[in-house]
Amino acid sequence: MEGSGLYRLLVDSVLDYAIFALDPTGHILSWNAGAQRLKGYRPEEIIGKHFTIFYPPEDVARGKTTIELEIATRDGRVEDEGWRVRKDGSRFWANVVITALRDSDGTLVGFAKVTRDLTERRSAEEALRLSEERFRTLVQGVKDYAIFMLDPQGRVASWNEGAKRIKGYEAGEIIGRHFSAFYPAADVAAGKLKMELDVAIREGKYEEEGWRVRKDGSCFWANVLITALRDSGGRLVGFAKVTRDLTERKAAQEREVADARRIAEIETASRTKSEFLAAMSHELRTPINATLGYADLLEMEIAGPVTEQQQEYLKRIRGSQQHLLRIVNDLLNYSRIEAGQVEYEITPVSLHTAVEAVLAMVEPLALAKGIVLKHGPCPEGIMARADLGKTEQIVLNLLSNAVKFTPAGGRVTAGCGTVDGTPCVTVSDTGPGIPPEHQHSIFQPFVQLGRSLTSGHEGTGLGLAISRDLARAMGGEITLRSEPGEGATFTVTLPPDR
Ligand code: ADP
Repeated sequence: MEGSGLYRLLVDSVLDYAIFALDPTGHILSWNAGAQRLKGYRPEEIIGKHFTIFYPPEDVARGKTTIELEIATRDGRVEDEGWRVRKDGSRFWANVVITALRDSDGTLVGFAKVTRDLTERRSAEEALRLSEERFRTLVQGVKDYAIFMLDPQGRVASWNEGAKRIKGYEAGEIIGRHFSAFYPAADVAAGKLKMELDVAIREGKYEEEGWRVRKDGSCFWANVLITALRDSGGRLVGFAKVTRDLTERKAAQEREVADARRIAEIETASRTKSEFLAAMSHELRTPINATLGYADLLEMEIAGPVTEQQQEYLKRIRGSQQHLLRIVNDLLNYSRIEAGQVEYEITPVSLHTAVEAVLAMVEPLALAKGIVLKHGPCPEGIMARADLGKTEQIVLNLLSNAVKFTPAGGRVTAGCGTVDGTPCVTVSDTGPGIPPEHQHSIFQPFVQLGRSLTSGHEGTGLGLAISRDLARAMGGEITLRSEPGEGATFTVTLPPDR
């Protein structure tokens, strides 16, 4: 009696299970706290009612309640999961066990019914199912990655859009086949596949970049990640494989390497050329100077009298030699700069002094050609940090060009100043100017505009290229402003001496 009293107390106080008894015809005999909590009825409301009240009408109509009692009677117990109805009409997903109760004679005295609310478990399962479904759809739709599963033996078990796109197989053609289909024959022969799976099993994953084979036999460069999949018990259930086609990326990388190599080759070739030019022009100067010297000796009649006609020829020889020497000197200069063989002695340079010195050098030339050489404004205090000799060389180049290209009666002006605090020298002329489309190219080596055999202008087309290289090497620049027919103005800027 004690025991059964305790037992009743236990059942009554259980909150998580509805535990109650039915008579042999299905009428409710008892009601515990869990039953009240789960179904909403108080004992006095429900005791004596038929248990069909807990079932959705469609189940009752199908005779489900009758069948359940019949099975319990026959087998001793019946278990079921399904929808049940609360007092307020709401439904919950329940696990129900009905046990037949018999007395010592074996006579059926009723049924014990234990009901558990599985709504939460069910919604959690539903949520899991939905999220798995969504995940599958997501993986399925990925186009840039081949994502698929292998069974533990390495046979393809699933296939997504990306796999189809990258490898060329339809799902139906490849599922069930061994993943060796994706590898070059040599890899298969070398046992590479087993090695990959072994690493994945041992370390959880295997990653590499390598060649893989498409359905049509063509190869692609792939990034491959194989992950071992295990169930909650740690048993291997298969592998997930993610493959990315890197062919494009690899090709781009190779292009970059090839470009870098080509640039290096071009640079080497250019340096070799400059070094060759420097060496050659240096060598040329010696015989040129020697021929000049012998022409001088002839002119001085040291070896005997020279006729007037011969004197005239000697003058021409000397003129041509001097021209040749200038060209060779230009070449030497330019190639030395290009080959990086020029040294700069950077000191404070007074631009006024430099401009005055160069104007004095060009004066005879301008005078001979009938050109007015003007000293433009050039304040004395303007100081640049530069190499004095190189600065004078630049200004001399610009002034000689101005005099050379400006017709008789024209005007050439040189001055200095500052632009935004940067020291500069300007050289302007009233010559033909430079058409806009050539204002860039005249700074390139060997470019001479309107050059013809009869143009009469001497030069190599190196003056401006040399001048700009020198200016840039000292941290400066040469710019040009010119309207065709309105003359040209060249400006050399140099770093200030602070
Ligand atoms: P070069 O004087 O030996 O021809 P440069 O490099 O000094 O070579 O000049 C390149 C070309 O730029 C010249 O051939 C000429 O056509 C043009 N040029 C340079 N300075 C002037 C100028 N002041 N006026 C017109 N054209 C010029």
